[in-house]
Amino acid sequence: MQTHSSDSHHSSQMGTLYIVATPIGNLSDMSFRAVETLSAVDRIYAEDTRNSVKLLQHYEISNKLVALHDHNEEQKINEFALLLAEGKDLALISDAGTPLISDPGYKLVRELGKQHFNIMTIPGPSAMIAALSIAGIATDKFTFEGFLPAKKGVRLQSLELNLKQPYTQVYYESSHRIVASVEAMIEVMGDDREIALARELTKLFEQIFRGTLKQLHEWLLADINHQKGEFVLVMAGYQGDTSLTGSAMDSEQLLKILIKELPVKQAASIAAKVSGLSKNEAYKLALTLRKL
Ligand code: SAM
Repeated sequence: MQTHSSDSHHSSQMGTLYIVATPIGNLSDMSFRAVETLSAVDRIYAEDTRNSVKLLQHYEISNKLVALHDHNEEQKINEFALLLAEGKDLALISDAGTPLISDPGYKLVRELGKQHFNIMTIPGPSAMIAALSIAGIATDKFTFEGFLPAKKGVRLQSLELNLKQPYTQVYYESSHRIVASVEAMIEVMGDDREIALARELTKLFEQIFRGTLKQLHEWLLADINHQKGEFVLVMAGYQGDTSLTGSAMDSEQLLKILIKELPVKQAASIAAKVSGLSKNEAYKLALTLRKL
């Protein structure tokens, strides 16, 4: 297969691992390169082989399929390394979208990357990017949050960490927990935060709902069908004042005094202990103040 130059220490006799994105619903979203690559490699690793058979049959790809999932990923790394070293080309696909994005493959790519094997991407669909492209919520900076934790307490804690995060946040959710997750978001972020919910993207019942968290909650409860399928939630970032809070302001005064008497690190450490600032924030602030 065609390979690009890379910083690989291995010769071109080595095989390449292709990380291949596949459709998130509509089979026609498969790229030409994805079909070509999956037809040409020596072996395809898939998260759920029964699921991937359908895709491969659709494109008349009759290639060897082997399972790679969260539970056997680490044991399989040596197998990949041996095959690549023998010059075999391999592909990794997931059930839908881009492998490694809330799907297996990270440890594999990390380890094989460390060993300088050739790894190439065959890019394509990902539900996260597809949802962002139609949400109408700021896309200049966003964080991908994946799935919220299943347990209520941890889920709330994880949202609290994002409460004042000023960037757009993208969450994945399944039909089992969509209502609970939106309720947790309301509990932490309040009723009015702007949100878009992308449901069943590229499939027959594709829908996008745009509104506030409260309106989304009402919309979900209004029709049980709205709770079915696969979802991406795109939530606007915190729009309030993220400048220094009262206690942080006080810590600025405190730091000003401390840095006159103490080394920056020590001054920051003391300021962090008596204020709402983290050590890192206090250290950065101390460095800035020292320059004034
Ligand atoms: N690797 C995939 C990607 O690149 O998007 C994500 C896999 S993750 C296990 C599955 C989750 O992705 C679903 O629970 C849902 O949150 C989201 N998802 C996948 N396909 C979707 C679709 N067609 N519409 C909306 N969300 C989808």
